[in-house]
Amino acid sequence: MENESNIIKVVAAVKKAKNIIALTGAGISVESGIATFRGKGGLWEKYDPEEYAHIISFIKRPEKSWIMLKEMGEQIFNAKPNLAHTRLTKLQEMGKLNWIITQNVDNLHQEAGSEHIIEFHGNYKTLRCIRCHKQFPFDKEQLAAIPPLPRCTCHGILKPNVVLFGEVPSIESIELAEKAAMHCDIILVIGTSGLVYPAANLPIIAKRHHASIIEINTEPSELTDYLTDYFLQGSAGDVLSKIVNNM
Ligand code: NAD
Ligand code: ZN
Repeated sequence: MENESNIIKVVAAVKKAKNIIALTGAGISVESGIATFRGKGGLWEKYDPEEYAHIISFIKRPEKSWIMLKEMGEQIFNAKPNLAHTRLTKLQEMGKLNWIITQNVDNLHQEAGSEHIIEFHGNYKTLRCIRCHKQFPFDKEQLAAIPPLPRCTCHGILKPNVVLFGEVPSIESIELAEKAAMHCDIILVIGTSGLVYPAANLPIIAKRHHASIIEINTEPSELTDYLTDYFLQGSAGDVLSKIVNNM
């Protein structure tokens, strides 16, 4: 009931708004079959992130990190965009959504036909040489062929072009995302725990610049009590469909 009245208010706010952006996290891809890292059945239940997903660990023992990365890749290469991704594309087509800033690395916003995407944590479907930084496309067949580990023409080890622990998003993506957050009048925060910085700063920046925070999540997050204006509890696909269907 609380959700229903909030949906009506959110639809009215979305209709009125001139500049809406979205920040998406692992939760938006759950319905595509990609588990969150922290949640039940997530990779961190099985793999210690410091040991497997830190850039220093990758450099020291890439064959170990690739065990975790391969499991992640199998989920990503088998996933297709879900209703939440396609509803965001629809909002863009309606001229109601400017930027999508995603912490996901699964390429599903692009595959759903969205544009204006800022990939805060990179993209798994590209490999990058840790020695010369040359990039290569990465597909399901190449993933299946690991081990041996993929190597660059310079013989350096290749790593998915994602931001591991100990790495930071590119300056360009931080600047672009912060600028978008400063100028929006609504930020949709979808399926993110609000624990991963600097992405978690974006709703804070938006709020400081008087934007409304609309949060969509199956559970309350770090942001819900102190930052969120409208909390819509439910799966990203369900809630976004309700919003778009009422526009
Ligand atoms: P997180 O795992 O910390 O949080 C996910 C959030 O999604 C939680 O708050 C959870 O309650 C919510 N959620 C779960 N199912 C949902 C659903 N169906 N609808 C709406 N919300 C739902 O994820 P995070 O904050 O994004 O941080 C983890 C980092 O790991 C990300 O920044 C990302 O880089 C990476 N990651 C990426 C992917 C991917 O590319 N799909 C998957 C896992 C992790
Ligand atoms: Zn190289």
